[in-house]
Amino acid sequence: MAARGKVTIEIEECKGCGLCVESCPPKCLDLAPEVSAYGVHPARYAVDGCTGCGICFYCCPEPGAITVYCIVTPSKPGGQHAPAM
Ligand code: SF4
Ligand code: SF4
Repeated sequence: MAARGKVTIEIEECKGCGLCVESCPPKCLDLAPEVSAYGVHPARYAVDGCTGCGICFYCCPEPGAITVYCIVTPSKPGGQHAPAM
């Protein structure tokens, strides 16, 4: 299934606590092997499959470290809504 979301992580803001890594349901995040200028392993988007749920954003203690984007697919021209069940 195509990813429904995407995240960007500001390495300068990340303190490498790993809370986002642990909280991501589809396990899209990990800690980079490289060390940042702060001497920590910053989080990174490692595996496709982000749903855009925002859990990592709400778990992160560092304002501005994570930005979550929801991918909106354009509706088909002339398309119809699926019938309500
Ligand atoms: S928005 Fe949700 S699925 Fe995407 S990386 Fe964050 S926790 Fe994982
Ligand atoms: S929760 Fe925030 S500070 Fe902690 S590793 Fe993830 S992005 Fe970095």
